[in-house]
Amino acid sequence: MLKHGNKIVDTAWVHCSATRPEWLAGSPLSEKIKELTRWHVARGFSTLGYHYVIDRDGTVGKGRDEGMPGAHVSGHNTGSIGICLIGGHGSSENGKFLDNYTPEQESALRRLIEEIRERAQITKIRGHNEVAAKACPGFNVKRWVEGKPAKTKLAESSTMQASAVQLLSGAAGGVTAVSALDGNAQIVVVLVCVLVMAAAAWVMRERIARWVKENGS
Ligand SMILES: [Zn+2]
Repeated sequence: MLKHGNKIVDTAWVHCSATRPEWLAGSPLSEKIKELTRWHVARGFSTLGYHYVIDRDGTVGKGRDEGMPGAHVSGHNTGSIGICLIGGHGSSENGKFLDNYTPEQESALRRLIEEIRERAQITKIRGHNEVAAKACPGFNVKRWVEGKPAKTKLAESSTMQASAVQLLSGAAGGVTAVSALDGNAQIVVVLVCVLVMAAAAWVMRERIARWVKENGS
């Protein structure tokens, strides 16, 4: 069982490097870890504060030894493992994982936590922003662990916006076409238009139902 002194290691804290997505792009993860280590040493740490670093492509690199308490979350370093995701510059506390990180990082983080669980009793997975006035790591870790994406407002959903655009363009297209025609042709165009709008409304209804299922708690 992994311990820091007498304290059982039971928590994994998730962090970010707060760097832009293109930071040191093309350099191997070892170079990025060296740079992060330089920053931490400059702050007075003996070495990198984190135990693991996850690069943009999902590569996992080692920082300090797991048996040594980290230097990543004030007051909670003993009995925990610190994991840093490369990226997260300009992220906000309630962002979504994929707003700032790659799908490869997401699966690497889940895999890494499972792997650490093989030798440590990790019962809590937390984000730095839970205990510090910081955005780090730029998403709600609790919700992420539960596998739920952060809530989006219905009007902000991109698929809903696409539906609304479809619906409106159906209406606008109909009005333009009808005014240019006369007689029976108008009736035909109006009928086609009604069908298009009905189909778009039906798609929108389905999307609303799916959205409620995914976002309702
Ligand atoms: Zn942090």
